[in-house]
Amino acid sequence: MTARAATLLQWYDRNAREMPWRVSPADRLDGVRPDPYRVWLSEVMLQQTTVAAVTGYFQRFTTLWPDVMVLARADDAAVMGEWAGLGYYARARNLLKCARVVADDLGGCFPDTREGLMALPGVGPYTAAAIASIAFDRPETVVDGNVERVMARLHDIHTPLPKAKVELTNLAKALTPSNRPGDYAQAVMDLGATICTPRNPACGFCPWRPECEGCAKGTATDLPRREPKKPKPTRHGYVYIARRGDGAMLLERRPDNGLLGGMLGWPGSDWEEQPQPAPPVRADWKELPAQVLHTFTHFHLRLTVLVADVPAGAEPWAGEFLPRATFRPSDLPTVMRKAFDLARDQFENDR
Ligand code: SF4
Repeated sequence: MTARAATLLQWYDRNAREMPWRVSPADRLDGVRPDPYRVWLSEVMLQQTTVAAVTGYFQRFTTLWPDVMVLARADDAAVMGEWAGLGYYARARNLLKCARVVADDLGGCFPDTREGLMALPGVGPYTAAAIASIAFDRPETVVDGNVERVMARLHDIHTPLPKAKVELTNLAKALTPSNRPGDYAQAVMDLGATICTPRNPACGFCPWRPECEGCAKGTATDLPRREPKKPKPTRHGYVYIARRGDGAMLLERRPDNGLLGGMLGWPGSDWEEQPQPAPPVRADWKELPAQVLHTFTHFHLRLTVLVADVPAGAEPWAGEFLPRATFRPSDLPTVMRKAFDLARDQFENDR
């Protein structure tokens, strides 16, 4: 193990963040092994999402579905509903697919190598390396945004991202020890999340300060450099929120493929530059003065929301009425929940 890795592990032994899916360095020393199910679940949830946002979801999921065999038998709609708000909904669909492969084809045991893990649905190179390292102590190099930032600063790399990815990965690989690689992977992430933070690195508390080139040269806060991002286009759309006299709401489950795939939502138009109105049922639609603004990875969205109270016999040609007792706004993805929040104000004003 390099002196750098050893220094960082010593720091981690004193400063490791507590997370509900983690085994502390002290427990690990006592022989406690991480549960691969919990590591896998946390890593899938953490793709594109912060630890703070994930923690509550993780606790609910593991209470409802404490192991992979139970999750594999879960109802799709229940899992999608619990995932609502975490975003990137393809992850939830792949989560279920993966749980079913592990339960049905692998006897409930996750593969313990990066290659084996990569064969699972929804597990890409990063997630496979993270699970192999954290759950099975394989000497894999795990490179997330935190690790890229720390490596760029430690070695004073000025090549902008994403071009610098390979170089930063190789630098991270050269430091990965074969002893305690799981703790080491979590240690670099913790260093990036708590000390070597994007805006104000606390170099005075950093175990790597004596050898950090970015700190010595005063360039750390400017690193890593990034190619300027292309501006995102804006798309527009209409959503229609219909409420029946008995409180039932008109909803539709979105097709599995595509954005918000498999999630519940309000029926409406396509999202494009100039969408056509697409009411799902005959009604006296009232357009709300406020619009929903939401940003996806590749575009901004402006949704015009229309609401209507419809009679008992209304026959929609899109979506179906969900009884009030069954409809949980928390099952909606964030963009649809924003629309519901606007509509709820309107319905309450109409009372
Ligand atoms: S010394 Fe400062 S810039 Fe260098 S790795 Fe530590 S926190 Fe980051």
